[in-house]
Amino acid sequence: MANIDPRAKNTVDVHNANDDPEVIRIQADLELEDSSPERMRLMRRQLIDGVCDCDSCRRRRLWIAVRRAHKIAAELQQMEELDEMVKRAYQGNSNAVVDMIEKYEFAALEHQGGPIMITGCAVCEKLTQDEKCYHCGREPWMMTMKNFIKSRKDLSKFPRYICLPVLHAAAWGGSYDLVEKILKYDCDVNQQDMMGCVALHWVTCNGHTAASKQKQYMSTAELLLKSGADVTIPDNGDKTPIELTLSPCPVFNDMRLTILKHKKKILNENLLQYCQEGNADLAMRMHRAGADLGCGDWLNDTPLHVSVTFGHIVLVERLLEAGKIERRLLSLLDARSVDGLTPIDTAHKWGYRRIASILQRERQEQVLKDMVSRITQDGTTTINAKIPPELRGTLLGHQVAKQLKQQQSRQKRMVKLLRLEQRMNKKGSIEKKPLEIQNKSSQLCVIA
Ligand SMILES: [Zn+2]
Ligand SMILES: [Zn+2]
Repeated sequence: MANIDPRAKNTVDVHNANDDPEVIRIQADLELEDSSPERMRLMRRQLIDGVCDCDSCRRRRLWIAVRRAHKIAAELQQMEELDEMVKRAYQGNSNAVVDMIEKYEFAALEHQGGPIMITGCAVCEKLTQDEKCYHCGREPWMMTMKNFIKSRKDLSKFPRYICLPVLHAAAWGGSYDLVEKILKYDCDVNQQDMMGCVALHWVTCNGHTAASKQKQYMSTAELLLKSGADVTIPDNGDKTPIELTLSPCPVFNDMRLTILKHKKKILNENLLQYCQEGNADLAMRMHRAGADLGCGDWLNDTPLHVSVTFGHIVLVERLLEAGKIERRLLSLLDARSVDGLTPIDTAHKWGYRRIASILQRERQEQVLKDMVSRITQDGTTTINAKIPPELRGTLLGHQVAKQLKQQQSRQKRMVKLLRLEQRMNKKGSIEKKPLEIQNKSSQLCVIA
């Protein structure tokens, strides 16, 4: 039953549980419970059918059995009480939560319980939101799989029963007051749950909620940020909280701005620091957590300047890649420091010829692309586009003309294909009409 992943220390491993005699015994007990007349009525089953053995029921019994196995009575009672506490935390019931934290202290803050939601039950899809599902155990207030996918598509391998620490549950439920109270108990704000998420992850993915609820989430996020939330921690889907405000969750721009307002300065400083040290992984992590590629230090040296100055070629390549994705590579390559040097000049100054040639090549490519797109967007279509007169006869003009020619021939081919298709469609419609008439006349013949 040992789980190798250290981050998943509190998860329930149901895969190796089938050989465990105690798990099998508890499952049998639960089956007996399910076959009682009262449960049968709730599951809308006839007594003659016997106990339900659908996938959802089997998985629920296994999940409960694995959690209960090898525990003495006192531990079981504590687990049940703490599970209830996490559920209450999601619903925003602060009195019940505070009582439990005072009773169990650190164990209560660390406990991952619930479940807050249950994913993937065939029966639930037929039920309305406010019906209780007796097959998987979903309560009316729990989210459905559909809702969950809408907000967190990135967790493709999320567990079926989602259990969270109490802070995460309160944050996801969006209750500011409760989060504030829990944080006062010396709770670790950067604790990771079984999906690798910190509490901030659960707050930032709520772009799909109503405007009033969004405000609540934003103030909760501010509270977490002020309490020292680390925005650079990726979850098991390799997403930082700020990445979740853009994709795959619904866009939540206000949340993005809220995080940047608090963390931008420190992230930028760290990015420049790691660029100096040449630590590519950490530098890119800062960028993904919200650091700006175009930021400058006191000499207005951008991350690209700094990594070129110290000759970190791998880092330079990764920065170029990131700039391309953000579609701002040209402006990054043309950024000037206080003494008027671009990254290319800096590379020459410090004698890094290979880096200089890489930068030069990238810049040429970008200038070319920029030119072509500007000419074609200038109100003219690609077919009629011509290179500007001031570029005629220059090397750049020659390259731009070549690119344009390629695009024009591609577009001409497309137009030809379109016309051909239109002609075919016209022919088709002419040929179809007589057929219909023929059919009608033949029908008439039969009737007559
Ligand atoms: Zn069932
Ligand atoms: Zn269900």
